[in-house]
Amino acid sequence: MSDFDKLNSSIQYIKTVGPKRASYFEKAGIRTIRDLLFCFPSKYLDRSNQLNSSEAFKYVTQGYDGEITIIGKVHSSERKSFNRHDILNVSFRDETGFFQAVWFQGAKFYENRFNSGDIFAVSGKPTISKYGDLQFAHPDFDLITTDESQNFYSTGKIIPFYRIPTELRQKNIGDLSFRKIVSFALDGYFQLLEETLPQSILTKYNLLSLQETVRRMHYPETLEEIDEARRRLKMEELLYIELIVALRKNNYKTKIKGTQKALSSKMVKDFITSLPFELTNAQKDSVNDIFKDMKNSEPMNRLLQGDVGSGKTIVALLSMLLAVDNGFQSVIMAPTEILADQHHKTISSLLEVYNTQHPEKPVTLSLVIGGQTKSKRAVENERIKNSEANIIIGTHAVFEGTTLFDKLGLVVIDEQHRFGVIQRSQLINKGTAPDCLVMSATPIPRTLSMTVYGDLDISIINEMPKNRIPIKTHLRGESKAELIYKYIVEEAQKGVQSFIVFPLVEESEKLELKAAIKHYEELTETFLKDVKVGLLHGRMKWKEKEEVMLKFKEKEYDVLISTTVIEVGIDIPSANIMVINDAHHFGLSQLHQLRGRVGRGNKQAHCILVAPDEIAARSEKVSTKLEYLSPIMLEKFKASIRLQSMVQYLDGFKIAEMDMKLRGPGDIFGIQQSGFPDLKYADITADIELVAQAKTEAFEIIEKDSHLSSEENALLRKNLNDHYSQNLQYAKIA
Ligand code: ADP
Ligand code: MG
Repeated sequence: MSDFDKLNSSIQYIKTVGPKRASYFEKAGIRTIRDLLFCFPSKYLDRSNQLNSSEAFKYVTQGYDGEITIIGKVHSSERKSFNRHDILNVSFRDETGFFQAVWFQGAKFYENRFNSGDIFAVSGKPTISKYGDLQFAHPDFDLITTDESQNFYSTGKIIPFYRIPTELRQKNIGDLSFRKIVSFALDGYFQLLEETLPQSILTKYNLLSLQETVRRMHYPETLEEIDEARRRLKMEELLYIELIVALRKNNYKTKIKGTQKALSSKMVKDFITSLPFELTNAQKDSVNDIFKDMKNSEPMNRLLQGDVGSGKTIVALLSMLLAVDNGFQSVIMAPTEILADQHHKTISSLLEVYNTQHPEKPVTLSLVIGGQTKSKRAVENERIKNSEANIIIGTHAVFEGTTLFDKLGLVVIDEQHRFGVIQRSQLINKGTAPDCLVMSATPIPRTLSMTVYGDLDISIINEMPKNRIPIKTHLRGESKAELIYKYIVEEAQKGVQSFIVFPLVEESEKLELKAAIKHYEELTETFLKDVKVGLLHGRMKWKEKEEVMLKFKEKEYDVLISTTVIEVGIDIPSANIMVINDAHHFGLSQLHQLRGRVGRGNKQAHCILVAPDEIAARSEKVSTKLEYLSPIMLEKFKASIRLQSMVQYLDGFKIAEMDMKLRGPGDIFGIQQSGFPDLKYADITADIELVAQAKTEAFEIIEKDSHLSSEENALLRKNLNDHYSQNLQYAKIA
């Protein structure tokens, strides 16, 4: 039997296991010896905060209130009833004295765990009880053997603790047996593990071999060894991910044919001259990046990132015009019908001057959205097929079913985070891809731009058009509602329009609709009875939404009451007040998006966040310096921290960073849709340096040997094929 086969054989061959126990392990997902070797401890008992009971007593009486671990033997255990409530009291002893552990809840459940004479490591923050005993309340506890406890005392060895699956606990395979089984597996088999990283990388980054890593993860001599072992596991994980990223990028650039465009374009030049404003430097730089890509024979795959209101649409339009002037069609795809419709209107009006100046060859548009009638859609399809339409604006409906392009040269995807990597790859048609530009207002943190979005080139618009005045953000308690509405009415009389947003609190759209209508009716009968009010919600057909938006834009309404449908991308420069009700229900990036709906003109805009009085009051005191908050505080005050962050920060990058810290990255950036394996060891938000190192290595490797065909890279190639085959869909090696 080869080493490989031995490691992949059933764990029944491990001492003390056998077929019956092996079947329990299998139910818990641990089938092979290799599986078991990679079941790493969930925590370690280390000596740094381990004391004997008399030392602990001394520290605690002197006021120490941190975490302490004491190893002791169960002396006695007693369940008492107090006020018809069960309390469990367990008394332990070590060689220097006694200590207690008490449970006010689950007494019955814990009672059977403590047999007289068993040795436990008890961890927690003990206090001195009213009887003068050293006492832990609801401590962590772990059963250990005499051997382990002695080893621990004599050599300072670190004891591993495993998260034991319930399937095993139920069959009486507890901490002790599990640890024993793992140690037998290690003794017999760890030397059979094959190395999975090339020697050059191990040497360069001073990483432990896989064998050493596995051994030390289970039985580290010091805490530093655990860190070293983990670093190696993370590096390995990240390197393979970055290889996939690099392969994806390489595939896109080399396997797929692009469309080449000449850079000198009269259409682009004339259009720029027709604009009523000058492009910002950041817009010019982005246009340069994009044009260079479009000239190239490799298909463009670029992300254009810029905060709400930074002017991404113009950049997109210039790129589309370059394609059009080169005889290609361009598509711009928005996440919703209402946004597609708005792009259609914005782009028409931006082109108006140009088109009147060039009646011989105007730029023609087509709108393709799901809500259209069949006949209208057929007409548009025909125009697209015959290249009568140069720029096609739509939702994902553009790529569904019947629309056939005559000569597609560029696809712009607005608000990227709604489209995953996989959808992007679907644009590739028979080995040819149009240039692809994705636009996002959500700043993507560096680690994510190196991983999930690592196959994209990035341009950033980090500058706002000059005439902008920073939005002022205010936080108010609900009891101030009347004053806020008064203010809105006063401003309306001066011609300033307002949005009033109510969140989608209800799960069902029906209830959401009801809530929106209720607010609308109440407000139009009371505070807002003297102004013109429109209503916009998610259950409306896009045509109806469009009508309402248009009326608002043309100032037929002073106030627009809305659910979150206005969240992304709506552009109404004359609206200068944004009231967000129940703001504590919104996520940070959502609040930022909503706020970005105002402040697009050249007047001072205001965003008013409304929350229950107590939350608003607390938000004024809470700190946005998260490192000063304990996890419990953080959890408890999340809503207040979000609101305070909104008041303090206007910068989308700062907001995104806070959002990632408060929520974790997975939620926000669609890692699930990205086609990447789950990360077991690395933390994409924390291990920035490792991500960067892995990226450098992986891209260098693929640049030199994109087929991984050299002998040196055979190992990488094999492991990618063996372990990441389902992630290679868009990253074929050969
Ligand atoms: P976003 O990046 O959020 O998509 P838009 O492209 O909708 O932003 O632009 C926001 C507004 O700013 C639009 O009304 C647009 O016409 C205007 N705008 C864009 N670029 C400039 C500029 N360089 N100077 C002045 N106004 C600009
Ligand atoms: Mg936009």
